Amino acid sequence: MDPTPSLQIREADGSREEPLNMLFKDVLWWTLGIVALIVLTIRILEILWAKLRQVSAMSQPRDKQGYWRISQWSWMPPLKKHLTYAPLLRKRHNREFRLSSAVNVGTLPSRLHSLLLFLYLASNTAYMFVLDWSVANKFALCAELRGRSGTLSVVNMIPLVILAGRNNPLIPLLKISFDTYNLLHRWIGRVVVAEVIIHTVAWAIPAVAHKGWSAAFGAAVKSVFIGSGFWAAVAMTLLLLLSLSPIRHAFYETFLNTHIILAVVALGGTWIHCSSASLPPLPWAIAVVALWMADRLARVLRLVFTNWSNRGVTDALCEALPGEVTRVTLQLPRYVRIEPGTHAYLRFWGVRPWESHPFSIAWVEYQAANALPTSEKEPLTAVDRKTASTSVSFIIGAQTGMTRLLYDRASKSPAGVRLRAAMEGPYAGHHNLDSYGHVVLFAGSTGITHQISHVRHLLDGYNEGMVATRRLTLVWIIRTYETLEWVRPYMDMILRIPNRKDILRIQVFVTRPQNPRDIVSASSTVKMFPGRPNIPLLLVKEVQDQIGAMSVSVCGPGGLADDVRGAVRAVQGDSVIDFIEESFTW
Ligand SMILES: Cc1cc2nc3c(=O)[nH]c(=O)nc-3n(C[C@H](O)[C@H](O)[C@H](O)COP(=O)(O)OP(=O)(O)OC[C@H]3O[C@@H](n4cnc5c(N)ncnc54)[C@H](O)[C@@H]3O)c2cc1C
Repeated sequence: MDPTPSLQIREADGSREEPLNMLFKDVLWWTLGIVALIVLTIRILEILWAKLRQVSAMSQPRDKQGYWRISQWSWMPPLKKHLTYAPLLRKRHNREFRLSSAVNVGTLPSRLHSLLLFLYLASNTAYMFVLDWSVANKFALCAELRGRSGTLSVVNMIPLVILAGRNNPLIPLLKISFDTYNLLHRWIGRVVVAEVIIHTVAWAIPAVAHKGWSAAFGAAVKSVFIGSGFWAAVAMTLLLLLSLSPIRHAFYETFLNTHIILAVVALGGTWIHCSSASLPPLPWAIAVVALWMADRLARVLRLVFTNWSNRGVTDALCEALPGEVTRVTLQLPRYVRIEPGTHAYLRFWGVRPWESHPFSIAWVEYQAANALPTSEKEPLTAVDRKTASTSVSFIIGAQTGMTRLLYDRASKSPAGVRLRAAMEGPYAGHHNLDSYGHVVLFAGSTGITHQISHVRHLLDGYNEGMVATRRLTLVWIIRTYETLEWVRPYMDMILRIPNRKDILRIQVFVTRPQNPRDIVSASSTVKMFPGRPNIPLLLVKEVQDQIGAMSVSVCGPGGLADDVRGAVRAVQGDSVIDFIEESFTW
């Protein structure tokens, strides 16, 4: 006679396949660890190679960088063209899919990202379903699946939380960009939620068969073990649904706040669930909570350190500029070292102070007490630093939320308004361009903030003989002539840097000029054009005159970034042409 379901369930519960779960836990961690080590090794080799190039080329004239112009490995340019710089399909990567101006469905991962994500999804699926399918007692199969999915979900929570943290040391070590770690966080999150749902279903099938629906789900209220797991699963499912791209982009702040609250419920529930039954994943659940809290603590400490000193607190001058943009200049009450290409999170007292938003750092000045402003590159002495303050400038385009309120506030006074503010950062700035003989920077609209910091750094480095750069081309695409006003003070300073004509060429493309007579080129090194640039042609011309290794970087709308990416792929031949994308979209 067949045993009753209750007997089968009791038998099944005794047969959890823990050794196999532990094996897959180890395999998953080893795989993630090995991938991180491979990326780290590549990064270290890249840094060493770039240092070698910089040191050997920085004292050479432009025509003596031939060795660095040619790729030393013939397989490298095709690899970049077809894998590392390739979009998933033909061209589209960062241009967002939009159903309407308000509904943003997100972007497509690159080919390399897609490959990594596929391997990650496939391995998790394989680990999940290596089960004893031949077992006669199907409740035993459920028990095995429940143990496996639960174990894998907690294991995956560790990289999930690591990749949610801004202060995660892996980000600078592995040089992971903002959109890459967001992408990985989103996909690992989806896998965790899928595993949690499978875990819940694998628990519910025998529980309902044994006691019926009301008793099984009644335990979600009565039992600490079942209840904590059940509510953590509900929180995670909501996390997944509320983080879908259209919701996330349309209601970013609501998404962010509910995301944090639900994450606290999910992580707390997981901890209680594991500890109330002394489950093997308990230490990892504790590690997940500790990692999350460590990042939050690091943010608070950075915020306090950056914005407070015995000389006062940070304040901001906010000036409304043409084209619905606010130029914000923060006065930090201490010396904060800021590299080119970094961004920071800003919050303003009186303008939704509970929100903080990321913006690229356009310009930095240091002011030692009783001294004239000092440029970013001139070293302050250790004594100066103790008394120095830092002024940091941003260009902020008005969208529909906090940035719009800030612009409205700044528009009230032609001289600008002063607000209390706080800066958290700087973050990122992983890309060092000092070793490239030839640098081409593309900026679209407010993307100029990211590029202008590199221009100044490279010009200063050229004058000090510290960089290999011998040709620097900045291409800025703007809608109207008035947009030039955004960065006029910084451009004026750049144009006054000695010897800048030796290496710097600026091309400004005005796509919708109000008055065509405004579009006049100031000199042969600073040119203005009406309309859009022909990016492939422009890049071919740069490559014809390539000096040493070339870096092409883009910061701007997704469509522009995709055009530049396509053009860089098209010119991959036998010379070294690297591509760097900084995106404000994700
Ligand atoms: C690394 C980075 C650097 C950036 N640098 C600049 C810059 O120099 N100048 C500039 O004008 N813009 C920059 N942005 C974009 C800027 O962060 C958003 O435009 C701003 O957060 C919009 O705020 P809002 O409340 O007005 O947004 P909303 O009008 O509510 O939303 C507009 C868009 O911004 C997104 N968004 C809203 N809040 C955030 C947030 N906290 N983090 C990320 N995205 C958000 C929304 O998903 C939506 O797609 C940068 C973005 C990133 C990720």
